[in-house]
Amino acid sequence: MESSRSPIVIGAGPAGLTAALRLVQNGVKPRLLEATGHVGGLARTPHSGDWCLDPGGHRFFTKYEEVRDLWNALLPPDQWLSVPRSSAMLVDGEYVKYPLVGRDIVTKLGVGRGLRGLSSYAGWRMLRSGSPSGQPANFEEWGTHEFGRYWYTIFFDGYVRKTWLADPAELASDWANQRIKPIDWTWRNKRKHPSEDVFRYPRRGPGQLWDAAAAALVDAGVTPTLNARVERLWTHDGTWYVELHDGEVIEGDAVFSSMPLQTLVEALPAAPRRVRVAASNLHHRGLITVAVALHDRHEIPFNWVYTPGGEFLCGRIQNYGRWSKNLHPAGWDGTFLGFEYFVRPDGELMAADDSSLSEIVEADIRALGLGDSRVDHVMMLRSQFAYPVYDPVRERSVARIRNYLRRHYPSLHPMGRNGMHRYDNQDHAMLSAMHSVARYFGGDVDPWQVNADRGYHEAGVLKK
Ligand SMILES: Cc1cc2nc3c(=O)[nH]c(=O)nc-3n(C[C@H](O)[C@H](O)[C@H](O)COP(=O)(O)OP(=O)(O)OC[C@H]3O[C@@H](n4cnc5c(N)ncnc54)[C@H](O)[C@@H]3O)c2cc1C
Repeated sequence: MESSRSPIVIGAGPAGLTAALRLVQNGVKPRLLEATGHVGGLARTPHSGDWCLDPGGHRFFTKYEEVRDLWNALLPPDQWLSVPRSSAMLVDGEYVKYPLVGRDIVTKLGVGRGLRGLSSYAGWRMLRSGSPSGQPANFEEWGTHEFGRYWYTIFFDGYVRKTWLADPAELASDWANQRIKPIDWTWRNKRKHPSEDVFRYPRRGPGQLWDAAAAALVDAGVTPTLNARVERLWTHDGTWYVELHDGEVIEGDAVFSSMPLQTLVEALPAAPRRVRVAASNLHHRGLITVAVALHDRHEIPFNWVYTPGGEFLCGRIQNYGRWSKNLHPAGWDGTFLGFEYFVRPDGELMAADDSSLSEIVEADIRALGLGDSRVDHVMMLRSQFAYPVYDPVRERSVARIRNYLRRHYPSLHPMGRNGMHRYDNQDHAMLSAMHSVARYFGGDVDPWQVNADRGYHEAGVLKK
């Protein structure tokens, strides 16, 4: 039987597609509105012939069974790869394993620097154990306490400055425990076997999964409406009115929103000043990903490499060949790399034309020591809202907006990464969407609580 309910879903990224699929499973057909010309959001995979670009190197791992089950329902087993994780930091020409391994740091950086790092590490750990516990005031304090001043400076200070374009002393540290693993001091034979640290990956990149999700929706009678940017929304007598950039107004009984939280507040009828101020305090970092296919084969034994030093403008380099051989044409045997530049969404670099970007990337290829290799192919992708910034006012601002929306718009469901202003992965986007749909059907769940614990988020992930 056709349902009389008519929810509207904003955004066809992982959160929006998951919400739409869940609604369909419950017998309700939503309208799915996507601002751009493609589905998948930040986790899409742009193609150029047989070349595929992963915007950020998307590892698939989760602790949530319902997320894993949906992945399995959308793509058959032969489309999933099981990829061993190996990543490093490139410091003064040396690849130091990341997450950090004590023995590797000491041997790679030389005895003098190793001893200096060790004494700084030990000193700060002792200081920390003597001071009352509690959340450090900022990221710099967190990093210094965790790694000692010397290793914090070498490994994290430069990278965090590049990623967030901010002084680490002005950044909150509440994400750090979830994202950054402490140094592993175990001896090799006691350490986890490398085969235990694997992640899943769709053969043709993350977007393959989200294309499959969109195809499943089309089969169920829900075709995502592309190039449909939501500009305004309001509610009257229990009906939602959602206005697109071309003036079309769509009506519905509820709204699931993965558009950036501050844009959502701006699109609603004027909120009280304190809520508008909170929204204006939410900021993002953009990302430019440049995929470069170098004709020669260079052995880089890592999936990705962080580049904290000033000799590189990029902050991280993906080694796509180590993710999947299906990201490049069959038989091609060169080196396919993805250079990541963290930028201000409205900054100069985001506005730079392709030829200016090419010059920057060429300099980074030279810094990597691969300047002599011929370039077979280049792809560029600009993502405006890639990283929700975690500064000291974020938590308070998000709480203020969340409470206001809950009170005034109970049938409006913010979800996903930018939709909740959370520096989180696809599985958070998916589970927050699932919980939002459960709430729509009367379930007693709170999507804002998904992934709210502060433990290291790769502990206890599902292996199958
Ligand atoms: C560099 C990088 C690396 C990452 N690595 C990983 C990883 O290893 N593993 C992992 O699981 N996750 C990773 N992620 C995170 C992952 O990409 C996100 O968690 C996920 O894409 C969030 O899904 P979402 O649907 O909430 O948001 P998005 O993917 O941002 O999708 C939101 C969609 O809403 C649309 N939209 C916005 N405004 C409007 C509007 N006004 N009207 C209509 N539509 C609108 C957007 O165009 C977009 O398509 C990474 C992200 C980045 C940037």
